[in-house]
Amino acid sequence: MDERIDRTIKALEKNNMLACYCETSADACEKVKEFISEGDVIACGGSVTLKESGIIDIIRSEKYNYIKRMGVNEEDSERRVREAFSADVYFASANAVTVNGEIYNVDGNGNRVAAIIFGPKSVVLVVGKNKIVDSLDDAILRVKKCAAPTNTVRLDKNTYCKTNGECLSCSNDPTDMTAGCKSPDRICCSYTVLGQQRVKNRIKVIIVGEDLGY
Ligand code: SF4
Repeated sequence: MDERIDRTIKALEKNNMLACYCETSADACEKVKEFISEGDVIACGGSVTLKESGIIDIIRSEKYNYIKRMGVNEEDSERRVREAFSADVYFASANAVTVNGEIYNVDGNGNRVAAIIFGPKSVVLVVGKNKIVDSLDDAILRVKKCAAPTNTVRLDKNTYCKTNGECLSCSNDPTDMTAGCKSPDRICCSYTVLGQQRVKNRIKVIIVGEDLGY
């Protein structure tokens, strides 16, 4: 484990989060099994990291009651999103984690950040080493220059960053957290920073020694 990861883990622990390191995705797949029990109701936020690491296949297995994100229609999908708030365990990644132990997320619908903050009894965040940054300013920039442009391409959203490779605000004040485009397709709507938590170890962060997600 390199020094930055070690520092990040210690800082997360100081913020009352359980943090650990797994060198590979395969190791992380084993680790998550320690955080879930047979029969648990499990939900997750949209996450390329969960797919790339293989963790999504574990939580979807028959051992657990997995709440599928997409329903048969809009009403069913919305019901599932609400159900996720009372899950036993909620899985997601993060847009960035600072070496000071802060977790930064930007969300479109807001259901992912809402569930991370409150609702599910336990939250497991899987984070590739590529998402560790030195400061909150770097976390903001990471979303504007990397996560959002890549995700808008993936999701085929009509935004400035999809065609230009970075947020509209980057040419003006890049560290202004909420500045950006006015597109109806904008994916940056809610901005959250997790610091010290009241419920110790409700949030568990698995840092993986690989590049995962955006
Ligand atoms: S505010 Fe708009 S242009 Fe900026 S990163 Fe978000 S979606 Fe892209």
